[in-house]
Amino acid sequence: MTQLLENKVCIITGGAGPRGIGKATARLFHEHGATVVIADLDAEKSREAAAEVAADRTMGVACDVTDKASCEAAVKAVMERYGRVDVLINNAGITQPLKTLEITPENYEQVTDVSLRGMLYMSQSVLPHMADQQGGAIVNTSSVSAQRGGGIFGGPHYSAAKAGMLGLAKAMAREYGQYNIRINSVTPGLIQTDITGGKLTDEMKTQILTGIPLNRLGDAQDVAKGFLFLASDLSSYTTGAVLDINGGMHMY
Ligand code: NAD
Repeated sequence: MTQLLENKVCIITGGAGPRGIGKATARLFHEHGATVVIADLDAEKSREAAAEVAADRTMGVACDVTDKASCEAAVKAVMERYGRVDVLINNAGITQPLKTLEITPENYEQVTDVSLRGMLYMSQSVLPHMADQQGGAIVNTSSVSAQRGGGIFGGPHYSAAKAGMLGLAKAMAREYGQYNIRINSVTPGLIQTDITGGKLTDEMKTQILTGIPLNRLGDAQDVAKGFLFLASDLSSYTTGAVLDINGGMHMY
């Protein structure tokens, strides 16, 4: 198999979820020769998740992406161990199925902090290293709800935060193209993970599938493949772009 990420050091935030997009991405990246770092809230869970991916070329590190010092410390630990960082996947995220009038100031902060502030802080922590290396790739997990609004698992504040990520990515892509750093985003549709899995009734599934031309829900591997494309040289002339991974949901 072609090794698309040979010798690349890749940090994946929010990668400790047992059935999550981050873990599936770590597995696929590792198969493609990468060293993968899982950066999630809990140190032990991050280490366990990394060990599950593989015994070698993996690292787990505690990182709260809403806390700038925590992001800097995580990236410092990676630099101390591997001496470089080639890829950052900004994947940490939380959802709150609330309606507009139900959103409290705390809810707003919680959701936007993880998605938007987290993306900014992690990017700020890796960009100087990538600029020194004259190359790197950042890929961000936005959501189809950024483009369509709504969604059953995230509230309006989630849609807003995920839409904000697309703007932030484009602005950073413009600024960092001169250093050969590409910054892109994916907008997954409904993917069966711990955020969504188990919460869908058969009735909800049938209803949702009427709006998905490919007639199935997504799985974490579907998104991981998109990350692989945007993190690797396969997308060498792509920056500031948004890749829809939603079975065609967006067309409705
Ligand atoms: P998941 O719950 O497995 O992953 C989210 C991870 O983020 C968890 O491991 C959690 O511990 C971590 N996290 C939360 N707050 C954090 C923080 N402050 N710092 C570091 N890590 C933190 O669920 P998932 O579905 O794999 O979600 C991954 C990403 O995909 C999220 O950004 C989510 O919004 C996005 N997304 C998911 C879907 C879907 O249908 N599952 C669709 C579109 C977008």
